[in-house]
Amino acid sequence: MSKGITSRETDYSQWYNELVAKADLAEHSAVRGCMVIKPYGYAIWEKMQAALDKMFKDTGHSNAYFPLFIPKSFFSKEASHVEGFATECAVVTHYRLKNDGAGNIVVDEDAKLEEELIVRPTSETIIWNTYRGWIESYRDLPILVNQWANVVRWEMRTRLFLRTAEFLWQEGHTAHATEEEAVVEAHRMLEVYADFAENWMALPVVRGRKSENERFAGALDTLCIEALMQDGKALQAGTSHFLGQNFAKAFDVKFTSKEGKLDHVWATSWGVSTRLIGALIMAHSDDQGLVLPPKLAPIQVVVVPIYKTEDERQAIGNLVDVLIGELKAKGISIKYDDRDTQRPGFKFAEWELKGVPVRIAVGTRDMQSGTVEIARRDTQAKETVPQAGLSDRIEQLLADIQRNIYDKARAFRDANTIAVDTYDQFKEVLDGNGGFVAAHWDGTAETEKLIKEETKATIRCIPLNNKAEAGVCIRTGKPSTQRVLFAKAY
Ligand code: AMP
Repeated sequence: MSKGITSRETDYSQWYNELVAKADLAEHSAVRGCMVIKPYGYAIWEKMQAALDKMFKDTGHSNAYFPLFIPKSFFSKEASHVEGFATECAVVTHYRLKNDGAGNIVVDEDAKLEEELIVRPTSETIIWNTYRGWIESYRDLPILVNQWANVVRWEMRTRLFLRTAEFLWQEGHTAHATEEEAVVEAHRMLEVYADFAENWMALPVVRGRKSENERFAGALDTLCIEALMQDGKALQAGTSHFLGQNFAKAFDVKFTSKEGKLDHVWATSWGVSTRLIGALIMAHSDDQGLVLPPKLAPIQVVVVPIYKTEDERQAIGNLVDVLIGELKAKGISIKYDDRDTQRPGFKFAEWELKGVPVRIAVGTRDMQSGTVEIARRDTQAKETVPQAGLSDRIEQLLADIQRNIYDKARAFRDANTIAVDTYDQFKEVLDGNGGFVAAHWDGTAETEKLIKEETKATIRCIPLNNKAEAGVCIRTGKPSTQRVLFAKAY
């Protein structure tokens, strides 16, 4: 395995692509825009899924599954929804192939679907069509359902994990009797996402609200978590939408209230995707390879033996067996890399590239002195420690690495969140290190579009914890009541 990835400084985008490939996370497939997620990358997704799934269930949600295909007519029922997704839809038109007699396999024109099917880009329409049959009265509410699925959005510019034509995600779809309850749900799930980002991914996020321009097609309000990557670009890491009664009206989903009145049902939807793996890579990793937060690392500890004779290998193996037992009891995943086809130096480099948080090396001298060498991936610091009490020490070290990675990302984010008061300053920051730029905006979609055209920066969000502050729009000079966060984004 050749190491030497391009440095972030030289070419951040190239660094990312090489890292994804060399750390064995994913690769491009024969289908444009669609990726193959390799076992090591998928193991990270499984860890994310497990943590999120538990959080969804702890907040009262259950999983269900809806079809991959959506009848085309469903899309036209919610006007802004179809408008938002129309340009990204894959459409199924036929259901059979045939041999044309000249040895070619062709689409059988006799097998044309009566109604074309859309490969789901998101499932609101098929789900709300289904909910009509599930809901009659307030006793049937709320419905708190989540689906783990793949979706297809025909994206023209794709990037492994960050933006692919097919991606894996979860989508929550809830139905409520009151507006207030649905709004509370949308905020609750945003908080679940923020909690997951910060406490599992070690990724500090801004909780905010999208401007009208960036709102989900069909939503009345889109809440989001936004993160900053090491190149100063922002990434939308998760969204939670308050859908009002839009989909209930489009699909005629009504319920009888306690008071006996008929009303449309209130809705939310919320999702995070395999994009989060891209966020994880871009936020923490370095020029030596991946840096994974211990809580999501497929392998948390790797042990590399350094031996010459078979006896030495045996003795180290016995020590490691005990350690494996102790760490497993603490729920820590450990791999013993005793391959005799590779040298220790090669193994060190490989596990460093793959972002394993803690590496333990045990040599013959360690066996005599009752020690091991521990190296932590985040700081690359090494230390020789006694074998006695090793599992406790590793447990503490993993917690410390988790915290340290978060603190580092947080310090970076804070240092790269800059308030500006003029358009010149605004452009200067964006042309320099980038980051989040907190600036006054007149609140109109026109100005937002103008700023995007002129600088490529978009409003990432209006932070939920914003303080009111009188000012003037950096672009138009019109009055503004608060600062919003701009950035160039993925
Ligand atoms: P949305 O349904 O548009 O609110 O998106 C839900 C989640 O999926 C958000 O967290 C997005 O960041 C993510 N997402 C949207 N488009 C893509 C894509 N093409 N590839 C990967 N993730 C995506």
